[in-house]
Amino acid sequence: MNKLAIHGGPKTKTTPFGSGNRFGEAELMELKEALEQGTLFYHYGEKVKQFLHKFNEMYGVKYSVATSSGTAAIHVALGAAGVTAGDEVITSPITDQGTVIGILYQNAIPVFADVLPDTYNLDPASIEARITERTKAIVVVHLAGSPCDMDAIMAIARKHELKVIEDCAQSYLCYYKGKLTGTIGDYGCFSTNDFKHISTGDGGMVTVNSGREDDYAVTHAFADKNYQRFDHVVSRDIHHIAPNYRMTELQGAVGIAQLDKLTWICDMREKYGTRLIEGLSGIAGVYPPKITEGGTSSFWFFLFRLDTEKLTGSVDDFVAALNAEGISCVRGYIPQPVYLQPLFQTKEAYPGTNYPFTLSEVSYEKGICPQAEEVLQTSVRIGISEFYTPGDIEEIIEAIAKVAAHMIKGGLS
Ligand SMILES: *Cc1c(COP(=O)(O)O)cnc(C)c1O
Repeated sequence: MNKLAIHGGPKTKTTPFGSGNRFGEAELMELKEALEQGTLFYHYGEKVKQFLHKFNEMYGVKYSVATSSGTAAIHVALGAAGVTAGDEVITSPITDQGTVIGILYQNAIPVFADVLPDTYNLDPASIEARITERTKAIVVVHLAGSPCDMDAIMAIARKHELKVIEDCAQSYLCYYKGKLTGTIGDYGCFSTNDFKHISTGDGGMVTVNSGREDDYAVTHAFADKNYQRFDHVVSRDIHHIAPNYRMTELQGAVGIAQLDKLTWICDMREKYGTRLIEGLSGIAGVYPPKITEGGTSSFWFFLFRLDTEKLTGSVDDFVAALNAEGISCVRGYIPQPVYLQPLFQTKEAYPGTNYPFTLSEVSYEKGICPQAEEVLQTSVRIGISEFYTPGDIEEIIEAIAKVAAHMIKGGLS
């Protein structure tokens, strides 16, 4: 076998990855129509309404609410679920900070449960072990397009009467036992920021899965300063605070065109991710991710693990060698679990005070989620794009196999 590129050998990937333009004529047409309405306000225009209607049809839900971001969508779901000061909310330590920001804005306390070592998603047993009298809700994160073990999680939630919010920012059209993620818990939260499967620049959606009109009204109002805007009836009585997280008609317009592409985007990613798992299976020292039993993934990115005991170098050495082969990659998804961030280490969400952490016994010490810490230390993340070609995927597999063959103990170099 050839020398590694990092040692002066030939690079595995010498041609550019497949690429494409995610926006086109359809988005332009929608934007033009939005502007011609003479209003960009969601309640007066038609674009956000059409966008949600289309999304609801795709997801088979009766109600959803548009928001200004995915972070906003999660905050809205928490507000609608009644999460308030002093409540505890259990979530995953391997996620974007957008998952926990809304919890803290409600003056509730994030509690981190551990993940499973092969799906990188919340371990139901660890969730149950973290439940206290204060626990009000669980925010599950379907990481990188892969579903959590929802049967087990829903059973725990029912037993302890907890609300379940699904963070689907990375998991469009991802199925769990025939159901779409985002339709299984009480609320499903999506992001349309510019890095997600579909983009409206920024934006988000919350599904209201009870299908009840009163739940919808509360959710809708929480994204709009607690204004109640339904048809021609507008009420501005405010009983509690709520932020302004409204989506504009411009975002709604782009979203309509983007939804038309979503099935294709997710199909391509599923095909490529599934092929990567197959291609990496059986390479010594490399563990591809596992998809939860009964699930499908739309692979927002691809995270695989290394068996460092079997390799001569470190994870960082592996990452450097794979980058040199022409496959851009980094260690982990985020550098460290969310609870090791300064905010949690100092328990200072609001400068100068430890509130609301003072209300709870929660701990954010290193070691509270050993699997999550281990996953982030020993994994490698590569991007996946719907615009890649099948040949790109084969070259990624080839490059990983080459680096692993050189780095395996008793192997080539
Ligand atoms: C992107 C993301 C968010 C936040 O979405 P924004 O639209 O950027 O606010 C929340 N959770 C996860 C898991 C994400 O990937």
